Amino acid sequence: MNTRMPALFIGHGSPMNTIEDNDFRRCWQALGKKLPKARAILCISAHWETLGLAITASQSPTTIHDFYGFPKALFDVQYPAPGDPELAKHIADLTGDEKVHLDTDRGLDHGAWSVLQPMYPSADIPVLQLSLDRTRSAAAHYELAKKLRPLREQGILIIGSGNIVHNLRVFNFEQTKPYDWATVFDQMVKNCILQKDHAALCNYSSFGQMAELSIPTAEHYLPLLYVLAQQQESDSLEFFNEEVMSSISMRSLQIG
Ligand code: ZN
Repeated sequence: MNTRMPALFIGHGSPMNTIEDNDFRRCWQALGKKLPKARAILCISAHWETLGLAITASQSPTTIHDFYGFPKALFDVQYPAPGDPELAKHIADLTGDEKVHLDTDRGLDHGAWSVLQPMYPSADIPVLQLSLDRTRSAAAHYELAKKLRPLREQGILIIGSGNIVHNLRVFNFEQTKPYDWATVFDQMVKNCILQKDHAALCNYSSFGQMAELSIPTAEHYLPLLYVLAQQQESDSLEFFNEEVMSSISMRSLQIG
């Protein structure tokens, strides 16, 4: 019997959160201890965009250090979780997309391992990643994500890893006090989540300039839609790491 798993959206922020002792990392560590044990993890990360849908299908995915300008200690992090090629095929079937690329070369990017390392340091749960297909609209991502709903019943932990507000162009490393528009947009998204107004969240550009500033490119926001699409009537909802730093929101949530 598999436990019905929750679904998580995690604001990942800086990759340094993986190796720095801070509140975000401590929260991820506690979460890993608290959650029921998953059979496998499916991560939808901001850091894997493709043209057409792809899923990792390697037996032992490598650890991808897809960033620069960080200390060697971060490049030394390895996350040797196994893959699960059979499960990759199953998930590809669920998507109903006949052209899903089963990618046997692709490893795990830092959107996945930067949060999984603190959550599950022993790296003994198989991890797969589903790409963000750039040809799809936000609403189409949400519809695709709904097809993944049976996975929770099958003991699979779905994690969307991104940031609700993510604008690196104006990010201020010296002064992490949030921009007003970032705080307001983050709150608006929170309210929509509380009201289960997923249609508004798919149509985020209707929020105007605040959305343009908060979501200059969609890849850090879209993983949120994958998680919201898993929500059932009976599911509990809990926010954590509700902090906005300069132009990045760390707001995270657990459904179920
Ligand atoms: Zn990122």
